[in-house]
Amino acid sequence: MNRDTSCLFCRIAAGEIPCRKLFEDELILAFEDIKPQAPFHALIIPKEHFPTVADIPVESGILIGRMVSVANQLARENRLDSGYRLVINCYADAGQEVYHVHLHLLGGRKFHWPPG
Ligand code: 5GP
Ligand code: ZN
Repeated sequence: MNRDTSCLFCRIAAGEIPCRKLFEDELILAFEDIKPQAPFHALIIPKEHFPTVADIPVESGILIGRMVSVANQLARENRLDSGYRLVINCYADAGQEVYHVHLHLLGGRKFHWPPG
């Protein structure tokens, strides 16, 4: 499994940096965003290091499905019944700041469309 010892989210996945964990299995970790942009804001990551969603090869595409399944489960558990948003930022213009792929799950307020 790819791991980057200088990567913040690899270090969180390895337990070297603390997080408020919401879900974990052998492939996926979910935790609270440190700077929430909504009343509920979770990050769902693969434990394996891929810098961006564009770096996930087709044979690892199952990880995207697992990330979305975990997000849906967290949305159910946290009663985000009136709506939630799933976001993956890719590269600088989209606002990606951490180069370990992550799915944002945002809920608990109304969101605008188109996004900013
Ligand atoms: P991006 O802008 O790359 O799509 O999202 C990165 C997210 O990671 C941001 O929402 C930011 O608040 C969050 N983040 C950055 N550093 C940390 C950290 O050390 N711990 C946690 N839990 N979240 C972080
Ligand atoms: Zn990483």
